[in-house]
Amino acid sequence: MKKGTPIFGSMILVILITACSGDVKNQEKEDSPITETLLLKNFKPRSIYNLTETLVEKAKYPIIDMHSHVYAKNSDEVSQWVETMDAVGIEKTVILSHLHGPDFDSVVDMYSGYPDRFDIWCGIDYSACETDSFHRTAIAELKRCVEKGAKGVGELGDKGKGLFYSKPPAWGMHPDDDRMVAIWRAVAELGLPVNLHVADPKWMYEKMDSTNDGMMNAFKWRLDNQEGIRDHGEMMDILERTLQKNPNTTFVACHFANCSYDLSIAGRLLDTYPNLYLDNSARYAEVSAIPRAAGKFYTAYQDRILYGTDMGRSLNMYRMTFRLMETADEHLYLPYNSYHWPLHALDLPDEVLEKVYRKNAAKIMRDS
Ligand SMILES: [Zn+2]
Repeated sequence: MKKGTPIFGSMILVILITACSGDVKNQEKEDSPITETLLLKNFKPRSIYNLTETLVEKAKYPIIDMHSHVYAKNSDEVSQWVETMDAVGIEKTVILSHLHGPDFDSVVDMYSGYPDRFDIWCGIDYSACETDSFHRTAIAELKRCVEKGAKGVGELGDKGKGLFYSKPPAWGMHPDDDRMVAIWRAVAELGLPVNLHVADPKWMYEKMDSTNDGMMNAFKWRLDNQEGIRDHGEMMDILERTLQKNPNTTFVACHFANCSYDLSIAGRLLDTYPNLYLDNSARYAEVSAIPRAAGKFYTAYQDRILYGTDMGRSLNMYRMTFRLMETADEHLYLPYNSYHWPLHALDLPDEVLEKVYRKNAAKIMRDS
């Protein structure tokens, strides 16, 4: 899931003018009509702090990127992507295709020139989920995908209305559903890890008003206006029941299990369920707003967090993730950050970086 720029033209940014006296304050107001008219969407601050800026061209250790998608659309683009991966130090990229059937096969074929550089993961065929034959048809297709080369399952998503991403969607069926138990068992028997996107960042379930400090990004992905949707807490219960009911299946809850607003939720689940891992993809902006809490979390769960991107395949995108993880740079406004807040890099210890970048992924990957 990528982030985008929200559109809400009616919100007016109110900048509080702090001045020593009331006269100065009034004067500024008259001279600066921008404080009355600037739209929040047009507020694009640049840092003027004179601080260290570190360019990290290549990652400190080799990386397995556990969360990417079919961003290269033909074999030439696949080759260009490999050049980028070489330049920045990505040893292997996991393509979460969430596809099955001929669509999956064509992706495998497209990336087949670089079998050591890409692992392709498949989706689940939910088309028979309302019938008794669901587990048979879904498992048969899963086995066929494995024969074709699938190394995992995902990205499967559920933001509160049921499983989707794989087509057709299975609205109303959540990953803890009894109908999924046989599927998860087959996935485990085939040695496949699962990438599972449960919920979304909490701000997207909150009211879209002037108090929602994540609204700059959340508005585009808002869920507060969806009828019948399970809320964030209910989705965490669904994730927990899924882990509990299927202890032999390895789940990677992507995007820090969408708990960056309260990492203790993810921490408790990691403490309780050894079959859970997290990926850090597409949540760099959220955790870099809280660098000390996030740094402690990475250190405490250094054996259970996996590196991921989920943001395309440009050189600068990869370099931004390295900068945010490896350096101590502060107060950064960077692309791929749709929130209004500046970011602070995490300065993670080498031991943590090495595990998150590669070692943890290698533990759970099929044939690695
Ligand atoms: Zn994704």
